[in-house]
Amino acid sequence: MLREIVAAPGIDVSAERLRIGGLTPLTSIDFPGRLAAVLFCQGCPWRCGYCHNPELLDATVPGTLAWSRVLAFLQRRRGLLDGVVFSGGEPTLQAALSAALPEVRAMGFETALHTGGMYPERLAALLPQLDWIGLDIKGPLHCHDGITATPGSGPRVRQSLRYLLASGVAHECRTTWHPGLFSVNELLALADELSEIGVTHWALQQCRTPGGAPCALTPVQTQALAARFTHFVLRRA
Ligand code: SF4
Repeated sequence: MLREIVAAPGIDVSAERLRIGGLTPLTSIDFPGRLAAVLFCQGCPWRCGYCHNPELLDATVPGTLAWSRVLAFLQRRRGLLDGVVFSGGEPTLQAALSAALPEVRAMGFETALHTGGMYPERLAALLPQLDWIGLDIKGPLHCHDGITATPGSGPRVRQSLRYLLASGVAHECRTTWHPGLFSVNELLALADELSEIGVTHWALQQCRTPGGAPCALTPVQTQALAARFTHFVLRRA
């Protein structure tokens, strides 16, 4: 069974406990409008078939980068970077994230989070410490558990989305898709669901099918998706 590292409410966990599996020193695409560094947090409870970071999934693997080294790196980047992105893996798996975020902000950086939204209550508690969130919406509710290989995952994400929308924190919802995951009609229905509950920023990340064939929406289908959102972007993985 997956070891869960998050502490019970009220228990303080220092940022030194944050297990980081990697660092990207500079990115202009992971935190919109910001030059940022990305910290890849170790551990994820889900097992999506298309995961690009399988080495980060095992929550029992120690971090490769001590928090003190992260702080030293950020100290050298003050005035050069705008922000720090906590990505993964799944950053909200670790209780130490709640201690790391204010330390990063105290150094003058903005904070961003990439999350699958599997821990809605933890996300709600972290929202005041975040300037931007990229929330993965893996698919329609009835497909979600199959994509994540985790029963009960879909409703958790919907609850996270409700907390996020209510918070007013800047964000983007993003969905990775190819026709082997769910159909175009289901994709359109997902776009309807998201727009109806108030999502305005949606990124659709098209990837290749497991057989390697590229998938492509028609221009009409793409326009139909885009019409539902204030900001829509189509990315090709
Ligand atoms: S939620 Fe993200 S990190 Fe976790 S298995 Fe899925 S794609 Fe990988």
